[in-house]
Amino acid sequence: MDKFYLTTAIIYVNALPHVGHALEMIGTDALARYKRLTGYDVYFLTGTDENSLNAERRSRELGLPPQQYVNQMADTIQSVWRKLNISNDGFVRTTAERHVATCQAFFERVRANGDIYKGTYEGWYCTSCEAFRAEEELVDGCCPYHPGKKVEWLHEENYFFRLSRYQEPLLRHIEAHPEFIEPEIRRNEIVNFIKSGLQDFSVSRSSMRWGIPVPGDPSQVIYVWFDALLNYITGVGYADDPAMFARYWPADLHVVGKDITRFHAIYWPAMLMSAGVALPKRVFGHGFVYQKGERMSKSLGNVVEPGAIADEFGPDPLRYYLLREVPFDRDGDFAWPTFVQRYNADLGNDLGNLLNRTLSMINRYFGGQVPEPQRADWETNFGDRSLIELSGQTVAAMEQHFNALDFDEALVAIWQFVGRANKYVEENAPWTLNKTDRARLGTVLYDLAESLRLIAHFVWPVIPTTAERMAEQLAVPLEVRGNWPEVSAWGRLAPGTRVTPQPVPLFPRIVPASADKYWRGDIDEEGKRV
Ligand SMILES: [Zn+2]
Repeated sequence: MDKFYLTTAIIYVNALPHVGHALEMIGTDALARYKRLTGYDVYFLTGTDENSLNAERRSRELGLPPQQYVNQMADTIQSVWRKLNISNDGFVRTTAERHVATCQAFFERVRANGDIYKGTYEGWYCTSCEAFRAEEELVDGCCPYHPGKKVEWLHEENYFFRLSRYQEPLLRHIEAHPEFIEPEIRRNEIVNFIKSGLQDFSVSRSSMRWGIPVPGDPSQVIYVWFDALLNYITGVGYADDPAMFARYWPADLHVVGKDITRFHAIYWPAMLMSAGVALPKRVFGHGFVYQKGERMSKSLGNVVEPGAIADEFGPDPLRYYLLREVPFDRDGDFAWPTFVQRYNADLGNDLGNLLNRTLSMINRYFGGQVPEPQRADWETNFGDRSLIELSGQTVAAMEQHFNALDFDEALVAIWQFVGRANKYVEENAPWTLNKTDRARLGTVLYDLAESLRLIAHFVWPVIPTTAERMAEQLAVPLEVRGNWPEVSAWGRLAPGTRVTPQPVPLFPRIVPASADKYWRGDIDEEGKRV
């Protein structure tokens, strides 16, 4: 079985996840599930970045020991991901023992290869990015990615990583492997940045106590980005499980926000080259989610709380909405009216009603048992053939779009099939057939039930809870661990299957109401509004 190792970025623990973080998690989760569905041995890693200056500062503000604070926040963040039904296999916390072991071993290896030296660093530093920002990047003395956040002047003696040595090797690698950085707009940015000249960067801090000590020099801690990037090898056993590391490394995909593509497409591969470790195959920089055109951020007070939406509607409406509405490689908008519309139209009407009316008709006309199709002449029946052929085309479209992280396109293709099945009901008017042609009625209801079995599998990567509820009402197994060519082929549904006698609506209609309760002006560490 082929493996597929994919990761999200690890998030800072000084605030709760917002809907932009949720987009990254949900998109990566959908791809992880799609790969499992189609037969891959998937390892999906995420985690928390706990050694940052912000975490230490926030813990001091709250009067808590830093470790206690990051423990609480890591728990809270994981509970949000559980609410969204994220199926990660591993979770790396950067304060964990095994990650400390990875960092120190890796640091030593890079130092032994002559790529670490001591020097002096000074510059403008954004504590939200945990990164130095060039003078010309600043907007009114503030970080370009954190409007209103003043940068600070930092001056200290540090260890440096010889990034400049990797300028040419990086360019050669990107040229030979254009798929290494996607989408193309990010690749062009990275290539231009490398060509403008790479500077060595500081990989330690002497002003901080919170962090992973530099091996052999406890007066310094390892720079939080150097530490954070290493989570991707910690998670698959770099320091403690050679068999697992050999199995899953190199990563097949790092999914990251577009603002941190540079760390993943320059620093990270250079660090790996220096340590003699294979490079990840692909880095994908996704866009941001805006609300009414503004970037969401805690400081702007317009953050949407994904956990609150999941509490009210379950995980699937938000999962569907974000992946359908936000093209993953570009920026998108979170707008409440569109959420309500997508919920009622796509989920409630197109999908939910198709299931409900099909199950009701099987109960009404065939005593709840899926009838035997009688299709001696199906080849000549255009309606049947176009439905069956479209199921196969949908399988092919999913393969293309999921692998390209074009989740919106994948959903468009799946919903075309949903729409075709709805049209099939109208074309065949089962309520009339019941009086005129029972054999034909049996074929039509079989086709609808089989379409729904397929749709349950098609939608599973994006809306897994709904897929389970569909399969349960259809009384078919949800086969999501490989065997895809058979599972996705038309005709697997056994005639005689006894569906539920009491269909339950998947998505009861919601009325457009105020979205205020899902926006948080600010929120404390326990998730309560303040
Ligand atoms: Zn910043």
